[in-house]
Amino acid sequence: LSGLMAGKRGLIMGVANDKSIAWGIARAVAAAGGEVAFTYQGDALGKRVRPLAESIGSDIVLPCDVSDPASIDAAFAALKEKWDTIDFIVHAIGYSDKNELRGRYLDTSPENFAMSMNISVYSFTAVAQRAEKMMTSGGSMLTLSYYGAEKVMPHYNVMGVAKAALEASVKYMANDLGPDNIRVNAISAGPIKTLAASGIGDFRYILKWNEYNSPMRRNVTIDDVGRSGLYFLSDLSSGVTGETHHVDCGYHTVGMKQVDAPDI
Ligand code: NAD
Repeated sequence: LSGLMAGKRGLIMGVANDKSIAWGIARAVAAAGGEVAFTYQGDALGKRVRPLAESIGSDIVLPCDVSDPASIDAAFAALKEKWDTIDFIVHAIGYSDKNELRGRYLDTSPENFAMSMNISVYSFTAVAQRAEKMMTSGGSMLTLSYYGAEKVMPHYNVMGVAKAALEASVKYMANDLGPDNIRVNAISAGPIKTLAASGIGDFRYILKWNEYNSPMRRNVTIDDVGRSGLYFLSDLSSGVTGETHHVDCGYHTVGMKQVDAPDI
């Protein structure tokens, strides 16, 4: 795959540490010869992201809190000083109050509903508005979703509603940006143990359930998602847009528990 991303450069948002899905994608892009800039949220995460960026030869590491439009503007202004144009962006950002990622969806507060939708859904649109201006000869935008958008998952609650809205926004953005040869897609990743996932109630049970019941009888890794990310960010997917693509060891195809799965 080396050379697949040669001559392409872009921004990856959402690396918190070396367990992050965004890091799996960044590593795959770098291995394929692409250049990557990063954003991080807050100084504590910045300290983690900088050495990771350096390890793949990147020195563009910018703060960005997507809940603050001025912060998004500042990140893109700083990026523009380094690079005049970009070819791709990765939005691997989601957030909800973990107190509401357990119990009933019905009990979601209006404050957390609005915040979850703003950070987990609208921020992709807000980022795309800025990125569009830097994609003068086409490009690829990628976000991350989860099967909880399509089917009810215990504890996923408002994040499921947010991911459904995110997947719909992928289609609307794909239609708006298609004439400019900018493609917009989502990867619906199977469960992976990351910082964000640790906020979801009973996450270890969800991991075990997926491992025992997916067709491949295992969970995906950030490298699995990274390689599929490479497909979307490169010209291999030049005719694909508005798509939500499952990278979940096939879990979404299964209708009931596997006969050989333990009763967990
Ligand atoms: P992660 O904790 O490594 O990444 C989440 C990122 O969101 C962090 O880098 C965090 O800083 C960032 N973020 C949160 N609020 C922000 C804000 N206001 N401004 C800027 N950044 C902010 O976890 P992850 O699992 O790699 O999550 C990446 C994406 O993948 C999320 O959208 C998540 O919903 C999605 N996803 C995760 C899984 C899973 O099981 N881990 C499965 C499917 C989809």
